[in-house]
Amino acid sequence: MIQENYYENNIDLLDHIESIIDWEEIIPIYENNFQDYKIYNETKNPRLEMAPSTVDEEKAFYQEVLRSAGEVSGIYVSQVAQEIDKQGLKFENGKVIHPQAMVEMIQKYIEAGLAPVAFSRKYGGLGVPNIIKAFISELMYRSDTSITIAVGSMGLASILEKFASPEICEEWLPKFIEQNYTVTMGLSEPDYGSDLPEVKTKAIKDPNATEGENKWLLTGNKRYQTMACGVNGGPSATLVLARTGSPESGARGLSFFIAEGSGYEVTGLEKKLGLKASATCEVAYENSPATLVGSENYGLVKYVMGMLNGARLSVSSQGAGLSQTAFEEANKYAQERIQFGKPIAEIPAVKKMLNWMERETAAMRCLMVEAAYSVDKYMWTIDSGLPKSDPAMIEAKFWEKVANTLTPISKYYNSETCIQVVNTGLQVLGGAGFTEDYDLARLYRDARITNIYDGTTQIQINAAIGGIVAGMSANGIFREYLNKLQNGIDYSTIDSSKKRFHEDAIILLVKDFDTVVETYKKIEAREDKEAFAFEVVESAARLILSLLMERARTRSSKSSSSPNKNPRNNAISILDKRKQWCKDFHRDSKAILMANQVKLESAIL
Ligand SMILES: Cc1cc2nc3c(=O)[nH]c(=O)nc-3n(C[C@H](O)[C@H](O)[C@H](O)COP(=O)(O)OP(=O)(O)OC[C@H]3O[C@@H](n4cnc5c(N)ncnc54)[C@H](O)[C@@H]3O)c2cc1C
Repeated sequence: MIQENYYENNIDLLDHIESIIDWEEIIPIYENNFQDYKIYNETKNPRLEMAPSTVDEEKAFYQEVLRSAGEVSGIYVSQVAQEIDKQGLKFENGKVIHPQAMVEMIQKYIEAGLAPVAFSRKYGGLGVPNIIKAFISELMYRSDTSITIAVGSMGLASILEKFASPEICEEWLPKFIEQNYTVTMGLSEPDYGSDLPEVKTKAIKDPNATEGENKWLLTGNKRYQTMACGVNGGPSATLVLARTGSPESGARGLSFFIAEGSGYEVTGLEKKLGLKASATCEVAYENSPATLVGSENYGLVKYVMGMLNGARLSVSSQGAGLSQTAFEEANKYAQERIQFGKPIAEIPAVKKMLNWMERETAAMRCLMVEAAYSVDKYMWTIDSGLPKSDPAMIEAKFWEKVANTLTPISKYYNSETCIQVVNTGLQVLGGAGFTEDYDLARLYRDARITNIYDGTTQIQINAAIGGIVAGMSANGIFREYLNKLQNGIDYSTIDSSKKRFHEDAIILLVKDFDTVVETYKKIEAREDKEAFAFEVVESAARLILSLLMERARTRSSKSSSSPNKNPRNNAISILDKRKQWCKDFHRDSKAILMANQVKLESAIL
């Protein structure tokens, strides 16, 4: 794989950090007007020592962290990822054995301080908003998925900060961070995957617990438990969905628990198409000790949904990271591979594939950032105790609704598109792409899981469709959101001869999307409504992406001021690239919306 700092050499990503994202808006919301800094001055709590006092200070910290993630991923992990994948995992005497090089790479990320990226400072975390988490994940996924999952799994436990008592957080989170736990999402069972409301693992109160003691016992089997084994004897814990109600109680009878790895048994390891170095474990619970999180019976509807939303943002980053790598590796190969007396990069059909890959990756990054932004815009305010009528609270409520629709859209879109981008990258390499001599084969296998785990694409469509269709009513939230995006675009810097590629294209897309939604509303049969929901969500995704690409162009700088040692980035300014991306992206969006309209019309005939 290409060996370079994956942050410093990505002009699109740098442009987001330096010009596109409004840090003056995000940082004060996340920092709650620099509360941690004030508390540090009063208490000298060492966990808050790094708390910033200004936006500039915090932005500089973000850049430092991203540089560090880009370095570990691009300089070190990228060079051993292929070999680690080849070695894979062993399962001997009930123990999972990871390759030594993988353990060393995990250690490098830990030493760079990147493991507790999802947690707030007060528990020993990095204390960064979701936008920064998204970029860090993207940079890590660029070199390898299995290692990124092993390091990042701990972040699942950040859901405890939102829903668990301060006592539970203090008991578990600093321990997870200090001892480098892996943390697993304990949902799937052999007979229940998408159908989580039916999971059967049973939770009972520990009969030996004293009055008021939070001690429970779990019994049942879970499947596909990523990293439930820890790393080569290292500690692990699982956040388990288990039934406290009757067997017929459905979603309302499920509760959420923390279980230590020492209390359950890893009984097997899945043999998989990809993620060869990521342990996907079968786990047996037999009267295994557990701690209840939050209130009984809210396990699925509140806590697991919250955890899954975080995991879905992470898959969105995975899509962007894998796609960026596929593009970079394919682009490099295409410059070097000579056929018919010239580099294949100069052959129009190959150039077209590369341009599409680069453009789609840039779009995915926009969506990843926007989904994370929508969460940041509500998450830190919604539990602040402000009155409902406070403008900040009204704004947070709006963004919560947007995030509930945007998160499944970004998970679905980035995973599906990343599979296509990696597939196209492999095509650019021809026969070489199909061999194990290059990284594309591994990337291809690893990409394939993205639209399955953390809820399949079909489940994301189910999650998004309601918010889109209801939200497109005259005063609906989704319509208001689209209007906001449109208002953030400035066409005045566009040459009048090019206007039709930008402003006119957007006006037509908005109109086409309205027609798509109106046609969908006319479908009567429930089965058809479910079957054709995809066409509406895909159309929504493409419109949002076209708007985000235009907004990125509006805010973009002419060139990136960061150190950029990569000569291929200097051929054309990022702003010129964005103009070209917008033009071609809107054209593709138009074609997709038209095709979807044809399909929807067939459903109402
Ligand atoms: C490598 C890997 C790692 C994983 N890690 C974890 C983990 O750490 N923790 C964990 O709990 N789980 C994990 N999973 C499980 C994963 O989340 C599930 O595989 C996924 O949710 C789908 O469930 P399923 O495999 O049972 O498929 P099923 O639910 O059987 O679905 C099969 C097909 O039916 C479709 N379908 C099902 N229901 C609907 C519906 N209502 N509407 C439309 N379509 C539907 C699905 O989209 C899919 O196409 C992992 C899986 C893999 C392969």
